[in-house]
Amino acid sequence: MSIDYISEIKRLKEKLSVTVVGHFYQRDEVFELADITGDSLELARKCKADDNPWVVFCGVGFMGQSVKIIAPEKRVLMPKIACCAMARMIDSSYFEDSVDYMVERGIPRDKILPITYINSDATVKAKVGEMGGLVCTSSNAYKIIEKGLESGKKILFVPDRCLGQNFANSMGLKSCVIGEGECDPKEADIICFNGFCSVHQLFTVEDVEFYREKYPDIKIAVHPECDPSVVAVADFVGSTSQLIKYVNSLDPDQKVAVGTEYNLVNRMREKNTYVLSATKPECPTMNETTVEDLYLTLKSIEDGKPINEIIVDERTIEYANLALERMLEIS
Ligand code: SF4
Repeated sequence: MSIDYISEIKRLKEKLSVTVVGHFYQRDEVFELADITGDSLELARKCKADDNPWVVFCGVGFMGQSVKIIAPEKRVLMPKIACCAMARMIDSSYFEDSVDYMVERGIPRDKILPITYINSDATVKAKVGEMGGLVCTSSNAYKIIEKGLESGKKILFVPDRCLGQNFANSMGLKSCVIGEGECDPKEADIICFNGFCSVHQLFTVEDVEFYREKYPDIKIAVHPECDPSVVAVADFVGSTSQLIKYVNSLDPDQKVAVGTEYNLVNRMREKNTYVLSATKPECPTMNETTVEDLYLTLKSIEDGKPINEIIVDERTIEYANLALERMLEIS
């Protein structure tokens, strides 16, 4: 007999002291079953404030880790421990290589302030925390970088080169990317690691031109993980939550093309909203989690044999939390 996953998930949620969390980029059928939805930081904060001891997180690995770092007392399970492609581009040894790159070019270690985008592994956040650095998100990066600059140190921004470059451009700062052309840390304010989001790289200036030619009054709204060339020609740039707010604030007749993950854009207002791409910009790892996976994870709690638990060692939690707390104090 086949299992009715949806009914079973609802039964298990009633029975167990568990909170099901769903990131905005999850498939619709998974997203609809979540008790808490939002972007990565919002979710970690809401989980901390929540009373349930169990968290089942439908998202990608670094998000489950963030809950564990902010609220280590929680048991955090993930239906799929899918890894964000961008977070995967840097580990603690690549991070150290980037610091060495700057030191070799004349910037002393104690004059480097690392800032990591929240889309990074806990071990990278811990390295950043240990060096006195901070975490940022796409909604508070401006504030965090501004504060970081007050220290008079050079900023090492990891892992997303686009986010680093886009914020540097919007603040009138100089940036360079390690491994891309001449990157002299003495000449730049923000030195970026060469990571990127494979999904947000899909949007191009040609896509913007295509829509503007087709609908001359259309608005173009993009995420700051998009390439700087795309951000430069957009009408609005914002994080996931900011994009939702922006689109909702538009007149219903105003056409808008949005450059971010497909599932989210598809869930935005029904009319006059377009995906800014000729291809379907789906995040493959976000889409790995299925309703069956969610059911199996909840069932494992009921059976007393929890699966896919997020484990972060104490030292990593301690230093990664420092980097996260520094961000929370500012934002
Ligand atoms: Fe990572 Fe990009 Fe997927 Fe977001 S959309 S989880 S940054 S790969």
